[in-house]
Amino acid sequence: MPRSALVVAASALAAAAILLVAFPAARRNGEAGLPSLGPVDASPAWAGFTPAFEPLEGPIRIGLQPGHWKIEELPDELARLRTSTGAAWGRLRELDLNLAVVRALAARLEKRGYAVDIVPATVPPGYRADLFISVHADRSDLPLRSGWKLAPPWRASPWSVALAGALTGAFASSGLPHDAFGVTDNMRGYFGFSWRRYEHALSPYTPAVLVELGFLGNAADRERLRDRPDFYAGILEKGIDAYLETYDRGIRSAYVPTNPPRLVAGPSGARLRSSPDRVSAILDELVPGQPVTVLSRRGVWYEAWFPEARMSAWLPASELAGAPGPAPDWTFVIRMNERAAASVDGASIKVPAPPRVRP
Ligand SMILES: [Zn+2]
Repeated sequence: MPRSALVVAASALAAAAILLVAFPAARRNGEAGLPSLGPVDASPAWAGFTPAFEPLEGPIRIGLQPGHWKIEELPDELARLRTSTGAAWGRLRELDLNLAVVRALAARLEKRGYAVDIVPATVPPGYRADLFISVHADRSDLPLRSGWKLAPPWRASPWSVALAGALTGAFASSGLPHDAFGVTDNMRGYFGFSWRRYEHALSPYTPAVLVELGFLGNAADRERLRDRPDFYAGILEKGIDAYLETYDRGIRSAYVPTNPPRLVAGPSGARLRSSPDRVSAILDELVPGQPVTVLSRRGVWYEAWFPEARMSAWLPASELAGAPGPAPDWTFVIRMNERAAASVDGASIKVPAPPRVRP
């Protein structure tokens, strides 16, 4: 099929997908102010990359990656990262902490009948699993900086967003400090997630999250990480459990990575909130027309990323407008692949339930 035909097909499919999937609740409730969405952004990179969707079979498969493990074995396409050995504090290496947590977690999960792969820095090309977690620890020279943070890939599938939400719930209830606003471009753009750039990366259909457990530069974090890897394994296991409560291999559309919608602040500007809630703190304000890079959506709230401020924040849809030009939302590129089309039935597209966050 010529590219223009793909673009047209993608536009039609995405428009249908938006109607079916994107705002079903909002349409039912008659909520106003949702941004109008234009044609899909079927960029050449998307149009040209349409791996088949092969359903997973057998027991739930969980990929766990101790960050930086066997980094020196990275293939040539990632050769420049072979020296990325991770954070260290004296003789304490992030890698050893990551390994201890992953091994403890793998033991817990295997005992329960899950198929667990411990995945080195070199991700097997197109690696597929029901979930994948890359486990890391940070270093900061600010001794007071502490806590965990986590993020799905830039172009997160609904399952990746659900996994991030479930793990966030587990960490939030652990009592550990949260390095709020600490998520970096490098976490979301982690090379193991970058299936558009590298052969040795996850399949786009593998739900994934990168977790930073804490800071080696902080005494409390450091001692806890060194002495209690099983404590962290328990938090991750709890998050995985919450994710798997809603996870369903039958909801195939939720595996498909989504292009973030391109939106702008509406005619009255937009207020950035610390959480998807009208009473949460206002962090900043956007002037009308200021662009917004959307990371995720919860109901009528968008989570957006502001690279210059290096922070994410929440905005209500009512304060946003569609950007001029393409303003895509859910792009079911998978459906441009004929093999995949057979396995994704547009009539049965459902939105996954939000992960249950336990108190
Ligand atoms: Zn790391």
